[in-house]
Amino acid sequence: MKLIHLIPILVLLASCGISPEAQVPEEVENQPAQPYNLAMRNGLPKTLPPGVKVNYYSGSVLEKRIALTFDDGPHPVNTPRLLDILRAHSVPATFFVIGNRVDQYPNIARRIVREGHEIGNHTYTHANLSKLGDAGVRSELVRGRDAILRATGLYPTLFRPPYAALKTHQRYNIKAEFGYPIVFWNVDPLDWKRPGPSVVADRLVKGTRNGSILLVHDLHASSVDAIPETITRLKAQGYEFVTVSQLINRAAMLQKRAAVEPAL
Ligand SMILES: [Zn+2]
Repeated sequence: MKLIHLIPILVLLASCGISPEAQVPEEVENQPAQPYNLAMRNGLPKTLPPGVKVNYYSGSVLEKRIALTFDDGPHPVNTPRLLDILRAHSVPATFFVIGNRVDQYPNIARRIVREGHEIGNHTYTHANLSKLGDAGVRSELVRGRDAILRATGLYPTLFRPPYAALKTHQRYNIKAEFGYPIVFWNVDPLDWKRPGPSVVADRLVKGTRNGSILLVHDLHASSVDAIPETITRLKAQGYEFVTVSQLINRAAMLQKRAAVEPAL
């Protein structure tokens, strides 16, 4: 094909706002997460260059900062009770909510945000995404995001896959299309087996290290019952509670500084 034949195609591409030479952002991993439509407008690639950080299991080991995360709510009784506990202890947390439960209990989702906690996308139906095709995964994330947006007026900026089940290419697609860091955890007390509040608290406290992300489910009364003791003991050990975004953005900043500062 001669150049003269390409010109109308290039003009068409330019008029659609699609550059034939779209630039790949250099440091996608250190940018704050963006809502889906903003990420698309900024031309984030569907596949990311190698070395981009997608999965987060913890924050920096250099600081006594940790994040409490609560999955699978909102629950009509246990989530408000948990919010009362967090407020009494002045502790921020991160809630990975299920979209169809947010549609059922939008007031609780609003309260989560109003009281300074962070809210993350945990799909619409708690589907096992590793068993779905790309269109199914996208639908779960879009519907989860839209439920949060309808209830709170905010786009979620984090994502946690149900059952931690997500194939590698799905992780990259989600990070690229939605801008979400994929957030896992490194302390799991298996509270969903309901071993009792004191056992849950003990497992959480004993598993915690600098930068830990703690996994709890606010669906269960016994899990919520474990939280006052957990907070009291971890605060006594000098840990500071932050949201996941605070934890991982700070970790990225420290990594960057360590990379540029000469060793003493
Ligand atoms: Zn879950």
